[in-house]
Amino acid sequence: MIINGMQSQVLFGKDAIASRVKQIASQINQDFHGQSLVIVGVLKGSFIFLADLLREIDLDVQTTFIQVKSYEGTASTGNIEIIQDIDADISDKEVLLVEDIVDTGLTVAAMLKHFTEKKPRSLKICSLLHKPDSQLNEIPIDYVGFSISKEFVIGYGLDLDGKFRQFPNILQLKSEVS
Ligand code: 5GP
Repeated sequence: MIINGMQSQVLFGKDAIASRVKQIASQINQDFHGQSLVIVGVLKGSFIFLADLLREIDLDVQTTFIQVKSYEGTASTGNIEIIQDIDADISDKEVLLVEDIVDTGLTVAAMLKHFTEKKPRSLKICSLLHKPDSQLNEIPIDYVGFSISKEFVIGYGLDLDGKFRQFPNILQLKSEVS
């Protein structure tokens, strides 16, 4: 399929995604067994992943959201603008941040700083996708769906200029079509 003048190919199909989501949820269920958990969805990219993950979680869970936006600019600086903060008190709570993708890791670093100030008992990170070769810091990502190389991906919640989030598969965009 050609998307915005670029070739695309399926990187992860919906069945592979569904089975990986179940595995991650089962790990989370095991790790937080007997505990209450606050899950923070980082909007917008995580909303489809979060919806599927959440339905596989059988813990006492409170769900809330934060919406963030990278400051406009040429390179990623890690300065994030919080469009809407969480509406839950997370002090002394076990917290799991759910992201769509960790690329440079600058967003996740800013989020960790933001949430640490709210004094949770613990703070872990779950990301559907991770680009380890792009990450500029060493923040560990506790739960990763799939590690990928530096290619740009869309679908299953991930967008290109606000579009294509509805695709059930994760597609990799390749070189421009001339
Ligand atoms: P970071 O701060 O880790 O560089 O960037 C994280 C954000 O960049 C993600 O939440 C996502 O919005 C965007 N991003 C990074 N890589 C990709 C990608 O391959 N596809 C899409 N759709 N967004 C990406």
